[in-house]
Amino acid sequence: MVTLNHQQNATEFVHSIDDTGSICYVNDAWLNFATENGWPISADEIIGSQLVSSIMGPETRHIYDLLINRAREEGLQAQFKYHCDSPDRRRLMEMRIFHDQVSDQVEFRSRIISTEKRKPIVLIDSLYENRSDTILKMCSWCKAIWYEHNWVELERAVQQLGFMTEQELPQISHGICSQCSKQMTKVIDN
Ligand SMILES: [Zn+2]
Repeated sequence: MVTLNHQQNATEFVHSIDDTGSICYVNDAWLNFATENGWPISADEIIGSQLVSSIMGPETRHIYDLLINRAREEGLQAQFKYHCDSPDRRRLMEMRIFHDQVSDQVEFRSRIISTEKRKPIVLIDSLYENRSDTILKMCSWCKAIWYEHNWVELERAVQQLGFMTEQELPQISHGICSQCSKQMTKVIDN
């Protein structure tokens, strides 16, 4: 795999929510990033929508709720790493969440720390529709897969399960693995 390291001052993808949890700002970089990753959406479409509606999985939504409340009520400045992968790219990202007292908005700023190109993993391609009734759980933060009572790295899980293209694949549900759960508990209790 090819690892591309990004500079410290890498582009920041920014979105903000108001006190009702509604998205009230996204920057151009955020919109471009969404489009490049198979979610072509305009500012008009995203502004005014509830942030929670774009977060998949109840556990992940719950963590974001806690982060947002603590930022708003107690001035928490959260910073954590997570993966935002597309089928052919493994991307390590860093997110900062904080409350801007002047605008009374909670701001989310993320940037790419590193990218690795890989053979496309169709399992996580949201446009791939040939899916069975089987459901695989994936960690929303690191993309590990819950397989045989263990959290297994996505690439390894795909290899072990023999998932290739042009076949019926399981559906994906979203959760959080034990390691990321530990990380996020630390961030929230900070
Ligand atoms: Zn994880």
